[in-house]
Parts: sequence; structure tokens; C-alpha cells
Amino acid sequence: MIEKELIAIRKKHTLSLQHLCTCKRKSVTATFWPSDKYTIPYLVGWNTSRPGKPLCDDENCAKQSKCNNTIHAEHKIIQDAAKHGIILSGGILTVSLSPCYDCVCDIIATGIRRVEWLEEYRITDHLHLLEEYGIECQMI
Ligand SMILES: [Zn+2]
Ligand SMILES: [Zn+2]
Repeated sequence: MIEKELIAIRKKHTLSLQHLCTCKRKSVTATFWPSDKYTIPYLVGWNTSRPGKPLCDDENCAKQSKCNNTIHAEHKIIQDAAKHGIILSGGILTVSLSPCYDCVCDIIATGIRRVEWLEEYRITDHLHLLEEYGIECQMI
């Protein structure tokens, strides 16, 4: 399969998770692929509340300057990998929205080889860090 088709598959799977997001502000989803040969994601993530905690509502999310109630989709993937002993190093992370500063720092620590996003968040001045650490980046 050619690269363009594989990217289209990763994009489609990432977008297919959007209905699972529970944050009132933005739906962000992510998928992890151990290599570019995969056509089914190995791990999936979406932004949602911490286990056992209430979902986003006006008080803890919508009326605040930023949502402090959710785990980001990328963090969910990194946490699941840690929990189940899955190696992220060398893999590909596909995200519906470009990662925030905290997620970028964690992505760098995992050794993920490539990060691709479908849409760019309004704050992008930390994204250069990914490339500084040799991580391939692409808006797809
Ligand atoms: Zn929220
Ligand atoms: Zn984040």
C-alpha cells in the first residue's frame, strides 16, 4: 500500500473516535501505530475525564478559562502503553489536533518516531521541539 493510502487510513480511524470525547470544549482523538505497515490502530485515545471522575460540565469545564477535567487523547495513549507495557518507541502517533506543550514533552520522552495531526491548534510555538528531537511531523 502506498504512503498516501496509509495516511488516509490513519486519518479515518482517528476521526472515527470523535463521538467518544466527553469534553465540552473540543473533541480530540489520537491513534497509535507501531509502524507504517499497520492498517488498524494499536492504541486509541480520546479526551475524557479521569477514571471515576465526573464528565465535563459547565462548572468544571465550559465556564472555566481552560478545561482541567480531561486527560488529553495523547496522554491517554501514553498512559495505556505504560499500564500494559507497550513500547511506543519508533511508532507513529496520529492526532486530530496538534499536541499541547505537555503532550509534546511526553511524546518526546516516549521515542515516538512520527507525529501527524489533522488540524492545527491556535498555539503552535512549542511544536518545533518535536523536530528538534528528530521526530518527523506532518499536518495530514
Ligand atoms: Zn472539558
Ligand atoms: Zn495535550
